[in-house]
Amino acid sequence: MTDWFTVEKIDNQTFAISEYKHWEETHCYLLCGQEKALLIDTGLGVSDIRKIVDSLADLPVMAATTHVHWDHIGGHRYFENIAVHELEKDWLSVKFPIPLQTVKNNLTKFPCDFPAGFDIDAYRVFQGVPQIVLHDGDWLDLGDRKIQVVHTPGHSPGHCCFYEPGRNYLFSGDLIYKGCLYAFYPTTDPQLFYHSVKRVQKYKISRILPGHHQLNIPVSMIDEIEAGFAQIEESGKLKQGNGLFEFRDFQIQI
Ligand SMILES: [Zn+2]
Ligand SMILES: [Zn+2]
Repeated sequence: MTDWFTVEKIDNQTFAISEYKHWEETHCYLLCGQEKALLIDTGLGVSDIRKIVDSLADLPVMAATTHVHWDHIGGHRYFENIAVHELEKDWLSVKFPIPLQTVKNNLTKFPCDFPAGFDIDAYRVFQGVPQIVLHDGDWLDLGDRKIQVVHTPGHSPGHCCFYEPGRNYLFSGDLIYKGCLYAFYPTTDPQLFYHSVKRVQKYKISRILPGHHQLNIPVSMIDEIEAGFAQIEESGKLKQGNGLFEFRDFQIQI
């Protein structure tokens, strides 16, 4: 069951914990500080991510959420200290907006080599009360590392990136990755998505740590995605229902 996850070292204190056996190729990130560890997202929830985290860090762990989509909060149940943006607090504790069957259809969409013991019929989207509510500009202090919350709505209302000025890392969630970027659900907003891409474009970034797919992507991806949105905007099509737009290294579905 433990070989469900792949652990890759970004630096001595930062690890990617990835689920490459599933078509979404979701990445979570463990940031170890002197006093605390921060886990950014907890993945699909089909295997125990806590075991992996505990094998890498002997520290109190806070699980922070880029956004409350099922593939990023699946392992939240293994943690006592959960942080989420104020606009998606109720998605965790009151009602998740996407029907369970839609989630299960996505989870099982392509052939997927689920770990032994995983039962799709028993799968539920995590619900729980977050201990920490995040706001744009908040700092998460791990001792010798400080991480800033950057509210980047569009893919979802409370989507956040996490920026570490000490290393110039941007943990970009579902805002920036190499693949299909989604802004077609009722709870998404293509205009806000575009605005958020423009916002992170202004940050000094040495490395992007994306929420899905290829782990090593060039920082220039941000400019490419911004240019893609600009092109759709210029043609007057940046609104929901206009379908799939193809670019060289990514797609935008609105
Ligand atoms: Zn998402
Ligand atoms: Zn995602």
